[in-house]
Order: sequence, then structure tokens, then C-alpha cells
Amino acid sequence: MNRTADVVVIGGGVIGTSVAYFLSSAGADVVVVEKEEIAAGASGHGPGFFNAFGGDFSPGDHLAIGLESIRLIREHMPNLEQYQEEPNWFNDRPGLAPAFSEDALTHHQQMYAASGPQLEAAGAGAEWLDAAEIRAQEPLLGPDVLGGYLFPSVIQVDGWKLARMYMSAAQAEGARLERAEVTGLTWTDETATGVVLSDGSTISCHHVVVAMGSWTPAASVWLGFPLPMCNLKGQLHILQVPGGVDLKHHVIERIALMQYPNGDLLLAATPDPAPGGGLRPTDAYIRPLFEKHALPEDTTLLYETGLSRFPFLKDAEVVDDLAGGRPMSVDLLPMIGTTPAMSNVHIASGHGRKGIHLSAATGKLVSDLVLDGKTELALNVDAYSPRRFMPPKM
Ligand SMILES: Cc1cc2nc3c(=O)[nH]c(=O)nc-3n(C[C@H](O)[C@H](O)[C@H](O)COP(=O)(O)OP(=O)(O)OC[C@H]3O[C@@H](n4cnc5c(N)ncnc54)[C@H](O)[C@@H]3O)c2cc1C
Repeated sequence: MNRTADVVVIGGGVIGTSVAYFLSSAGADVVVVEKEEIAAGASGHGPGFFNAFGGDFSPGDHLAIGLESIRLIREHMPNLEQYQEEPNWFNDRPGLAPAFSEDALTHHQQMYAASGPQLEAAGAGAEWLDAAEIRAQEPLLGPDVLGGYLFPSVIQVDGWKLARMYMSAAQAEGARLERAEVTGLTWTDETATGVVLSDGSTISCHHVVVAMGSWTPAASVWLGFPLPMCNLKGQLHILQVPGGVDLKHHVIERIALMQYPNGDLLLAATPDPAPGGGLRPTDAYIRPLFEKHALPEDTTLLYETGLSRFPFLKDAEVVDDLAGGRPMSVDLLPMIGTTPAMSNVHIASGHGRKGIHLSAATGKLVSDLVLDGKTELALNVDAYSPRRFMPPKM
């Protein structure tokens, strides 16, 4: 194998493969180095809802990159789907954000008052439905629903499918995949000259992209710059209901329920944001290590919450479950850009609960910054820069 490249991307999750896709489509010579396999990390566990409404995005720069990513994935869908390995990968349905308590109803309406104008300007606004209207739309909702927002279109794409499509599309443009663990960088002065692999060999390159998901803090050590992240546990369950059901919407509130085109249902966990922003730092969710097993106590909580919203789940059988750690920056915004340590080492990580959704905008943004040092995307690039974590001068 040729041991040089224009760009080495470390990590073959949905973020690294998207970066490789946009870079190689723009003509760059790219090597993706992945220690396990494509989508072996968080990307193999996420159902990939592209929902711009909810606690995952704050209005302003955060929501702007979410909306830009929805626009980009729709634009690139015709190209990416040439590389699909499974039919029905693009699960686009109307979305519902229902409220089951007065507190939730007030919270939803306050959130929409804050983010609605930005959503509507991007053509992604919603209509408020009262209790009777929302149950007429989705008869499978339980009788306690008080109302909610109806979004005309919410995309869902499994992270592992999307990562494999990005990688195949990148390979069609000449990108290469190397299975190895990166253990460090080589550098001269303040410029990286390559990456070191665990067998001691190196790949020389002009740029490095760190897309290591929950393992990104290792790069803090290589760079001598803080990349503060936590590993936010999440889990999901695949359910089947004897006789089948027809859930017409992606339903996303405290929990998410959706139906795959083959009829299977997916029930997923999202821990509550804490009042005033941030996340509740409970032992159940913030985990120091990447864990792939579902926690029985979370399964019970998830199932009971699901049942209180959707009474038909009493007949459901769990046929599979998946769990993974979500790479979450401490201020919940993704980290995209360089650090003062080395100007040709680009960070693309910390996307938390929205990495699949944000993959397209991240890939395009990193590609633009690597190749041109600027982007034409209508985004405030500085807002995502890891330089925001620059330690204060003592
Ligand atoms: C239960 C659950 C539900 C979710 N739901 C959604 C959702 O609905 N919508 C959404 O958008 N997102 C969702 N997510 C979040 C999403 O999955 C993540 O944000 C996203 O997958 C992160 O992608 P990544 O490429 O940064 O990390 P990863 O997918 O973890 O990829 C990092 C890769 O880097 C590799 N690596 C690490 N270190 C090295 C090294 N030194 N050398 C070589 N390779 C290395 C790892 O092996 C791994 O493959 C969910 C996640 C979970 C767990």
C-alpha cells in the first residue's frame, strides 16, 4: 500500500466516512484508518433521526448546522444511494413531538417559540395539533396525549448504513481504507507530517482529521490541547408486535419510537436534558468507557415510558437491543476545526446524540476547511471550533 496521502482520516464512523466522502469527491487523496471496522463505534448503534426540533439543538449556530445537514443529506441522497446495500434505507416520514403532561406541553411550546422562526425560515416548521387532532393523525398514541407538533418530514437513516454508503462512495472516488490503530502523530515544528500506526509504521500526509468518536480524548494527548468530552450512554430496542401495527410517524419526545419499512419497531432512549441546559449527569448515562451492552434498569425505564405513551406496546416482543456511547462535547456543540497546537490537524468529533444527523454538514465543512481554509456553507464556523476550549492564560 502507498504510505502517503493528502489526508489521513482517523476513524471510520459516520463522521470520518462523511469527511472522506466529501474530500475524495473534491479530488483529495484520502486514507481512512479504522481500528475495527466501518461503524464499529457509536455509528453502529444510532437509528439516525434527522429531527431539528427538541432538546438536542439550541437555536442559533447549533440549529443552523442541524438544518444545513438536513439540506445536504437530501442533496447527496441520489449519489449515496447508488452504494446502498439494503433497500428502504431512507425512512422519510412525518414526525410528531407529542406532550403527555402540562409541563411537557409548556416546554414544547416554549421550545418552538425559541426555534420555530429558524425552523420555518429553513422550510422545516411544524403545525400544533390539539389532543383530538394528534390522535386522529396517529391513532396508536395513548389517550393521555395532550397535543403536540406535527412536522411534515423527518428523515431516519441507520448510522451503520449511512457510514458504509459514505465509505463506498468515497472508495469509488479513490479513497482507501486501512484497518489499523493510530497511536500518535509525527510532526515537524507545529505541523503534523503523518500518523503512527500500532505496528510502528507511518502514513505521511499533509492533513490529519481526528474523527475518533468517544476515543477522541486520546488526541488531546497527541496535541497537548484539551478536547473535553464525555461518553453518553444510549440504548435502543427492536420490537415486534404480533399481527403487526402501522405507525405512521416518527415519534420523538423523551423517547423515540419509529417503524422500519419491514414492520419492526425501534424504541430508543434519550436522557432528559437538565433544566438550564446540559445533561443530567446520572451514573446511568455518563460512562467513562464505551459499553455495548444494554443496561437492564434502562431497558425497564425505556419500556415503561414507551408503554405509557403507546399502550399497544404491551404485546410487543423485544427481538434485539443495541447500546453504545455517544461522543458528547461538554458544551453539547460539535467540535469541528483545528486547534492552536497544529494547524493541519482537524478535529471532527463531539456530536453527541446527533452525529448521524450532523455527519453531512460536518463532512462538507471539514472538506472545505482542509482544501480551501474556508467554506461557502452559511455557517458561523468559529462557533464549532475546538479553540473555544483554549485554557485561560494564567
Ligand atoms: C442508542 C443511540 C442512539 C442514537 N440516536 C441517534 C439519532 O437518532 N440521530 C443521530 O444523529 N445520532 C444518534 N446517535 C449518535 C450517533 O450515533 C453518534 O453521534 C455518531 O455515530 C458519532 O459518530 P463518530 O464517527 O463521531 O463516532 P464513532 O461512530 O464512534 O466512530 C469513531 C471510530 O473511530 C475509531 N477509532 C477510534 N480511535 C481510533 C484509533 N486510534 N485508530 C483508528 N480508529 C480509531 C473507532 O473504532 C470508531 O469506529 C445515537 C447513538 C446511540 C448510541
